[in-house]
Order: sequence, then C-alpha cells, then structure tokens
Amino acid sequence: MTRHTSKLQLTLLTLTGIFAALLIAIAISYPYFSAEINHKPRNIILMIGDGMGPAHLKAYRKFRDDPATQVEEKTLFDQYLVGSVSTESYDDQENITDSAAAATAYATGHRILNDALAIDADGNPIETLFEQAKKQGLSTGMVVTSQVVHATPAAFVSHHTERKDYNIIADQYIDNQINGQPVFDVLLGGGTKYFSRKDRDLVKEFEQKGFEFLTNKQQLLATQNDKLLGLFANKSLDKMWDRKPETPSLADMSRVAIDKLSQNPQGFVLMIEASKIDWAAHEKDILGVLSEMQDFEAALKQVVEFAQKDGETLVVLTADHETGGLSVGSGDSGEYFYYWDLDVIKSFKYTTAKMATDAQQSGDLLAEFNKASTLSLSDQEKHILQQADLSNWYLTRRAATQVINKRSFTGWTSFAHTGVDVNLYAMGVGHEQLYGHWDNDQLGRYLLSLLEE
Ligand SMILES: [Zn+2]
Repeated sequence: MTRHTSKLQLTLLTLTGIFAALLIAIAISYPYFSAEINHKPRNIILMIGDGMGPAHLKAYRKFRDDPATQVEEKTLFDQYLVGSVSTESYDDQENITDSAAAATAYATGHRILNDALAIDADGNPIETLFEQAKKQGLSTGMVVTSQVVHATPAAFVSHHTERKDYNIIADQYIDNQINGQPVFDVLLGGGTKYFSRKDRDLVKEFEQKGFEFLTNKQQLLATQNDKLLGLFANKSLDKMWDRKPETPSLADMSRVAIDKLSQNPQGFVLMIEASKIDWAAHEKDILGVLSEMQDFEAALKQVVEFAQKDGETLVVLTADHETGGLSVGSGDSGEYFYYWDLDVIKSFKYTTAKMATDAQQSGDLLAEFNKASTLSLSDQEKHILQQADLSNWYLTRRAATQVINKRSFTGWTSFAHTGVDVNLYAMGVGHEQLYGHWDNDQLGRYLLSLLEE
C-alpha cells in the first residue's frame, strides 16, 4: 500500500511538473502564439529603397561579397526575399510611375496620377496609412535621407497635386492634424529650409506642439523627448560615403525612431526610406547607389534586431520603382564582353556627388577624381574630366560617372525610371502572408487592412 501510494504520489508530482513546464513554455511563447493566430502585427515598419531595382541589389551583393571565399555572400536583404511588386501609377500619359504616385500606392492603396500626393484625379484627399494609424492611437514616424517633404514621405502625411511645392507640403505637415496633433510623432531627415522660413517658422510651431527640434547626430542620440523633428541638412543628407561626422546615419535615425515609437503600447507605424538610391541612379552614379544601399542595409539590421526581440512587428521592405535601367555589365562597344569590373568601383573612397562639389571649388575635376580614387587614367579619360563644364554641378558629376561607368562596364539605359518589377522583402509577424507577386496598390491595401480592428 505504502509502495502504491508513493508511486501514485510520484506520478502526480511528475504530472504537476510537466503541467507547470507546459504553462511556462506557453507563457514564454505567448507573443508568438497570439501573433500566429491572428497574423496581425502590433507594429508595422515599411522600408522603401527609392529606385532600388533588382540590378541594384545584385550590384550591391557583388560589392559586399568577400573575395576571399568561393561563394557570393548573401546580403541582409537576401535573407528576407518573399516576392516582387509591379509599380505602375494610374496615368493615361505615363505608364511608368514617379515617386509621388508610387508612394501614394503604398500609403493609401490607390493608384493615382504621377506628381500627386495622396489625392485622387478629382482633387479629393485619400486617407493614408499614417492618418488611419493616428486615429487609432498608434504612434507614427518617418525617417528619410532626402528632405522630409520629398515625394515618398509626403505621400504618407500630406495631400497635394504637385509634389515639388515643398513649402506648401511642409505647411501641411503641421496643419494636417488628427486630435490636435500632427500625423507623425517622429520626423527625421533633411530640409531645414522648408521649415525655417521668412513667411512662416514651422520649427517654432512644432516646438509649441511639444516636438524637440534636432539638428545633429549628437542631439539625436541624446534626446529624451518622444516627439522629434530632426532636420540634419538644409535639403537632403549627404550619402554615407560622403557624410560628415555630425550627420546621423539612416541606421542612427531608425534606431532612435524605433526607440521612441515603441514606447506606445498600442503600437506604431514607421516608414524608413533610403531616398537617394534613386537620386544617384538618375545621375547614373553607381558609387552613390552602393553608398545609399549600404546605409539602407545598416538600417535594416537595426530594424531586424528590434523586430526579432519585440516579436510583434511586421517588417516590409521594397522599392517604389526602378531607376536608371541599371545593368551589371555592359557591352556597348559592340563586342561581347562578360565582365563587370568591381575593382574600379572599389578604388573609390567617396561618391561623384562629393567629387563634383569639390571640383566646383577647386576648379579641377581631374585632381578631385585622383583624390577620390587610386585608378590610373588613360589620356582619353583625363580629357573627359578636364573638359567638364564645372559651372554646372550635374555636368561635372556626369563627366566623372561617364569615366567610371565605362571603365567598370556598368550599364544604364535611362536617366529616368523604368517599369521593371521591384523585389519584395518581409520578416516578422505575418510575413508569410506576403509571399508572391503584388501590385503596389494591392500591397498598400494590405498594409491598411492590418490596422482594421
Ligand atoms: Zn526618381
């Protein structure tokens, strides 16, 4: 009997132990289970590489590859590839999108006319992801490397027919309010000149709304405030390779934004844009593209680290369209040539944007080119650089990119956007819902549907 009792006690003890262990296991994995059941993330982080097509990603992977190994190492982007996106706008005249219409598709779920921001053909505003999020008590933020009033961010928080009206858009950033507050809690990027103006001091108005105004990296990293207006350049921020120490990186800005927005238990929506992949590609500047993508990948690392720890976040990364018709390899001399010369690209310390600015000051593009690169130039290449029209910054830069593209066999078909599909990446809660091919407006509607109660 005693033996039987002790056996029974032992069994009961074991069962209790197993039950307790199960309870602990369920408690620990609760966020995972709850997210799996409804597939609704609490936080959404949308990352946009403006102009980042498939060839840009290939070029970047080759650039980041470790030449000491046989394999081509994957980038952080590669680990989260889930699909592709068609990027059309809704425009009779133009069947390739610009950044305003493209961002609007993601921000509202609607395809509209090029140049317009979250506004339909009749001039009616279309509600955006940010406006919807704010109405539901979520926190919102944007982090970009362009001026903060540029097309992509503007489509999320303003409504206007002309994307280039930067002052009007900046006015809307403070005038467009939900529950007496702007549509965002954190706004980081460039564009001081559109906020500190003679006719209106928007910086002061934001400060009156409880925002802290930041102008350099030190202030950004030290701030204790939850509402931030950080403008770190008069217009756009310098690219990573050209950056001064006082300018924050896209990763710095993303980390701080996440830190502030994630204080809200209701959740948050954050949009992060590597704005100038596009700008560099419009100028056929492969160095600028790679520099901006390196900044973007570092920002993605911060985002992934947060999302993995947090367990309630969906991260979606894509582009708004392709820019430049970039090709990794170019046989434009009429011969078949199977080579893209990375050594040429790796010989540079900084991009052609800085080279052009420096050349306009020193009056010598050849000397600036030689400062930036260890490449030895042919007489013909020297001639191109010496003949550049230094009175024009763009033409100065184009002389440098012409030499670099030819030497490295980097091909470009366009100074504008192209209509090819862009890659789609996702990780975190419900990322498996994103597998496959999407239209850009369909993806926008999906993001909005995640906010439905
Ligand atoms: Zn563009």
